[in-house]
Parts: sequence; C-alpha cells; structure tokens
Amino acid sequence: GERRPTNLNELAEEYLKLAYHGIRAQDPDFQVQLCTQFDDKLQLVTVAPQDIGRVLLNLYNNAFYAVRQKQQQQDNGRDSAVYQPQVTVSIRADQDAIALYVKDNGTGIPSTIVDKIYQPFFTTKPTGQGTGLGLSLSYDIITRGHGGDMRVESCEGEGTEFVIHIPLN
Ligand code: ADP
Ligand code: MG
Repeated sequence: GERRPTNLNELAEEYLKLAYHGIRAQDPDFQVQLCTQFDDKLQLVTVAPQDIGRVLLNLYNNAFYAVRQKQQQQDNGRDSAVYQPQVTVSIRADQDAIALYVKDNGTGIPSTIVDKIYQPFFTTKPTGQGTGLGLSLSYDIITRGHGGDMRVESCEGEGTEFVIHIPLN
C-alpha cells in the first residue's frame, strides 16, 4: 500500500474503535475493558497506514474473539469466578524501532498449535468465522512490507500477547 508519515497512536486507536464497534454490533451484551498506553513522544512514522490498519484490526478481532470465547466457557461452567475480559494496546518508541503490543486475557493459544498460527488458512474457528489468513497476511505486511518482526507469547487459559516491531529509518 501507499506509504506516508503516520501517527501510530491515532491509527491504533481509530482501528480499536472500529473493531470494538464491529463486535458490539454483533453482540450488544459484549463487555470488555479496553486499556491503551500510547507514547506521547512518538514521532510520525512512514508506513503503509492501510496495511498496518489491517494488521491491527485482525489482532484486535482475534483478541475480542478470544475473550468472548473465554467468557462463554466461564458462563457455562460451574466455576462462577468473576471474569473481566481485557484487551490492552500499548505503543512504545525507542531509538530505532516502534513496538506495538496487543494483549488479551482470553483463551490463549495451546503450545501444540502456536507454531502454526502464521500458516495461511490455519484457523481454529468454525467455518464462516475465520479464514485463517489474518496472521499470515499480517506477518507478511510487517516483515516483508516494513522490515519489522512479529512475535507472540501465549499461555493456554491465561491469554495472549502479540508484539510487533517496526524499524525507524
Ligand atoms: P482467523 O482469525 O481467521 O482464525 P488468524 O490468522 O487471524 O485467522 O488466526 C489464526 C489462529 O490463531 C486463530 O484461529 C486462533 O486459533 C489463533 N489465535 C490468533 N490470535 C489469538 C488470540 N489472541 N487468542 C487465542 N488464539 C488466537
Ligand atoms: Mg483473525
């Protein structure tokens, strides 16, 4: 996509609202605590904003899906411990890269499948709810498109954090 100097704080927030309103339109009862930690000192970064937006949208939708699924599991179980779905988006800039974090306290990714999540068409979602293309496309946009990297840390049953680094040049 076309590159231009971009405020990543604004981009991240704009797409978070988009994802949140999308999910609330499907499920008006869905509740999630959204936390954002933006970096005030962030400079404009030359990226393809529509491509980065697609990456963020997919990460947010995956996070919302994971917390909804965990909430449904809790509602069905005998254990009625209070579960508060949370999604946290953080951005930090250092000398030579911008780091973007998307963290959720949802279902987590079993260690047996974590190596497959970037493969095209890999999905654990029912037909019609996932194409399995989101992360494979995202990985491509971040690595080949922006010279960055994308990593995941996840604990089954606890949650997931994706970390993206975009180099500054
Ligand atoms: P899709 O969302 O269409 O399934 P993705 O490429 O976005 O495709 O994700 C692939 C798979 O990775 C998901 O089906 C899910 O199993 C796993 N996954 C991705 N993000 C999360 C997350 N935040 N929490 C739990 N599982 C996740
Ligand atoms: Mg997805």
